[in-house]
Amino acid sequence: MNRKWCIFMALTLVSCAGQKMGLVSSPADYPAKQSSLRELVYTPESSQFSLWSPGAKSVTLRIYATNEAADPLRQVQMRRQQDGSWTATVKGDQKGRFYTFQVNQPLSRWKLHETPGIFATAVGVNGRRAAIVDMRETDPEGWQNDRRPALRGPQDAVVYEMHHRDFSIHPSAGVKHPGKFLALTEHGTRSPEGLKTGIDHLLEMGVTHVQILPSYDYASVDELHPERPQYNWGYDPQNYNVPEGSYATDAADPMCRIREMKQMIQALHAAGIRVIMDVVYNHTFDVENSAFTQTCPDYFYRLTKDGHLGNASGCGNETASEREMMHRYIVESARYWIEEYHLDGFRFDLMGIHDQQTMLDVRRMLDSIDPSLLLYGEGWAAGGPLLDYNQLAMKALMTNLPGVGAFCDDMRDAIRGPFSDDHQAAFLDAQPGHEESIKFGLVGCIAHPEVDMTKVNYSRAPWTVQPTQSINYVSCHDDMMLTDRLRASIALQPGELERLDKLAQTAVLTSQGIPFLWAGEEVMRDKKGVHNSYNSPDSINQIDWSLKSQNLDLFRYYQGLIALRRAHPAFRLGDADLVRRHMHFLPAQDGVVAFVLRDHAGGDAWNNIVVILNSRREQATVELPQGNYQAVCADGQCPSTDSRTYTGKATVSAQTALILHD
Ligand code: CA
Repeated sequence: MNRKWCIFMALTLVSCAGQKMGLVSSPADYPAKQSSLRELVYTPESSQFSLWSPGAKSVTLRIYATNEAADPLRQVQMRRQQDGSWTATVKGDQKGRFYTFQVNQPLSRWKLHETPGIFATAVGVNGRRAAIVDMRETDPEGWQNDRRPALRGPQDAVVYEMHHRDFSIHPSAGVKHPGKFLALTEHGTRSPEGLKTGIDHLLEMGVTHVQILPSYDYASVDELHPERPQYNWGYDPQNYNVPEGSYATDAADPMCRIREMKQMIQALHAAGIRVIMDVVYNHTFDVENSAFTQTCPDYFYRLTKDGHLGNASGCGNETASEREMMHRYIVESARYWIEEYHLDGFRFDLMGIHDQQTMLDVRRMLDSIDPSLLLYGEGWAAGGPLLDYNQLAMKALMTNLPGVGAFCDDMRDAIRGPFSDDHQAAFLDAQPGHEESIKFGLVGCIAHPEVDMTKVNYSRAPWTVQPTQSINYVSCHDDMMLTDRLRASIALQPGELERLDKLAQTAVLTSQGIPFLWAGEEVMRDKKGVHNSYNSPDSINQIDWSLKSQNLDLFRYYQGLIALRRAHPAFRLGDADLVRRHMHFLPAQDGVVAFVLRDHAGGDAWNNIVVILNSRREQATVELPQGNYQAVCADGQCPSTDSRTYTGKATVSAQTALILHD
């Protein structure tokens, strides 16, 4: 036996002993699974199971007759494969049954118990056991003919963010399925005053996309008790690849939530509206009981050198997207939602926790299916991630991530005031010094020679390559509603609330970024001043649709601005060079921002379009480029009834926007 052979034998023995002891290697060195992460391939002839668990000593598959059955019908010892996965084939038709995996890893510091695995695609009530279903039987009628509505590109998007329960739980919504996926399939719903609600309201408003708050299976609502009012935003992931049961009419039927979510998407598509889902791959509801820990302890989360969990999510843990299998999990899971549910894009929660390569690979995957699918997220974290800053998908590094967008807090806070203090106002209170940050947002956070970056609030340098990487907004589910914020931060005089609300959204809807609106702002919904209403009762979060008739003028203004944007390509140039060529700022006094979209921008029928945002409590005058102008938005009306011709200069009423064209 030569020396080389001795070393080979020694390594083999150590390796075999290690496998027997369940000590393959440290989690960071685990082999990657060779095939898809999907854990079940169902056919009527057999069900094939596969679970990646490289540190396990053994894995038991349990098949149950029902979700509640105390004892399994059978237990199957799974077979170890070279790539750290375990497989088993159960012959015969298993449809309608339930399954779990039990990983045996004696040296784990976590208590391991049964788990539905990380890639269950159907589950029983409250998501503790996975279900065996024939996914084709969950397709609603006509699903094969479902097509996503046409979209030229991200520049044409107008996004409406909503929570299922907020949107339809109040009796005034007039729906048959309050708070459920199916509410968005119901046409003809009306408020007590006879105004459109539900999907008809979205159509009337003219948005192109709805962004639904987390709608995968989350942990905090007990699905066994739909009769009890329970509320959560859903940022507490349990099963990433299954719809949330409390939004289904029957959470105990594993097929129901799947079919009804598809019905919702199908109905929105048929109405010409695309669907984006908010995804929260950055952390899980809990660590010990998560499918990540239960199948592969200490692999999927970032840990400090001494084994403590990272907490960049502010929720007690952060996932490790830089590890190969977490990276692949995010990309595969996102692909699954696009392929199985026909979703049209994603909003990534706390995207700054993820590494850039993961976001680039999600983008690449989306491009391979349809380049018009949207991808954006929060370019920040809630704490310091345990990964080198320069690898993270942070807002300031978005120029590394073409095709991926981030929320523009620069313009948001310049308009309404800082995130850190609900009682502090900014531009809307006519405070000077915020104009440059608003200009920065209006151009879509690109490099523009007329934006002085030294005066921008948060960013020292442009952070987008293309303007559509900037998601522009003044409010979202986080923080106060705009109405509450205005009340908290400004000593409002009669009429000011509505004027300032309109002014704020005019900036959003005339910007070159992607405009983003939070549900209910258009009817002046409030949340009674609650800032973080993630688990507040319906009384705080629900939209009372009777507000629509009380604030119809405001709704018509939002509707008019959206129609104006969608009719005029000048507001949707979608290209940084075009924005630099056509969009120019006009000299204006403090508290006023004015710009022109010049020379038939984007092929627009109008030659010049002038937008003036006046936050001052008195009228303001701006010199106009040469031409004779007509108003399309003036004195809080859009479309405007103002038939004057403006030449040379324009006078804008206090706290309003003026939009002119020649
Ligand atoms: Ca759930």
